[in-house]
Amino acid sequence: MHEYALAEAVLRAAARVAREQDLARVTRLEVAVGELQQISQELFERALTEVETASDPRLEGLEPTVTIVSAALQCRACGATFAMGEAAGEQGADEMEAIHFVPELAHSFLACPQCGSPDFEIEGGRGVTIAAMEGVTDDA
Ligand SMILES: [Zn+2]
Repeated sequence: MHEYALAEAVLRAAARVAREQDLARVTRLEVAVGELQQISQELFERALTEVETASDPRLEGLEPTVTIVSAALQCRACGATFAMGEAAGEQGADEMEAIHFVPELAHSFLACPQCGSPDFEIEGGRGVTIAAMEGVTDDA
């Protein structure tokens, strides 16, 4: 499953950082997920907790948190920046789902709320990153 593969990749990266920083244990891990990343937040959170115990003793007992990061849109015509939900245009549930699968389709369904141009850039809102990580060293 997609979420489990991603969870494994994130935790492998976290374990590597922990090793490099000589951490005995990771106490906090915040994972940021772009809203355009096709992923179930609930399933991903569960995957992070289930995968972690098997992967590295440094991650034992860790309860990673997942935050969703909104995509930012910037109009190429007038320079206005706006969020997906602020865009002008008719957005039914079907359209929004299509946009989440194929972000490039946003241009067919959305327009700048200021000038109505469908010509905008999509910044952020994609990918999975480690937003924050804390841990303790052995002698702490
Ligand atoms: Zn505009």
